[in-house]
Amino acid sequence: MASGNPSKTYQASCHCQLIRYNVTLSPPLNDVNSWVVECNCSICARNGYLNVYVQNECIQFETIGLESDLVEKYRFGKERVQHYFCSRCGSSLMAESIEPGFYEGVKALNVRMFHDVDVRTLQRRQVDGKSL
Ligand SMILES: [Zn+2]
Repeated sequence: MASGNPSKTYQASCHCQLIRYNVTLSPPLNDVNSWVVECNCSICARNGYLNVYVQNECIQFETIGLESDLVEKYRFGKERVQHYFCSRCGSSLMAESIEPGFYEGVKALNVRMFHDVDVRTLQRRQVDGKSL
């Protein structure tokens, strides 16, 4: 990209390192225009998700991919969104729509998996997912 927009690549992994990946965010998390989503829906509340939404191309898997049997999948309700977590350590990694045309090509990444990020310093945007 020729634009001068700042970006940063983050290392991320589940707790046991079975699933490792890189994520490039533009702007970076510490940018004044950047924020993470804190949602009160039934699954975010339980897992403590702090999400950023990124295009699939911004994610590079280093070890295994989401299609691996070692990555557990979970769906509920209307089953339009699939959640991924590590089968070994249980870390909640990310989620994506599996319904064509509904947030296609985008993943919601849990920034709690990112290395060297102090989530206490991030700007949060509250989303009332419980009411959706
Ligand atoms: Zn793990």
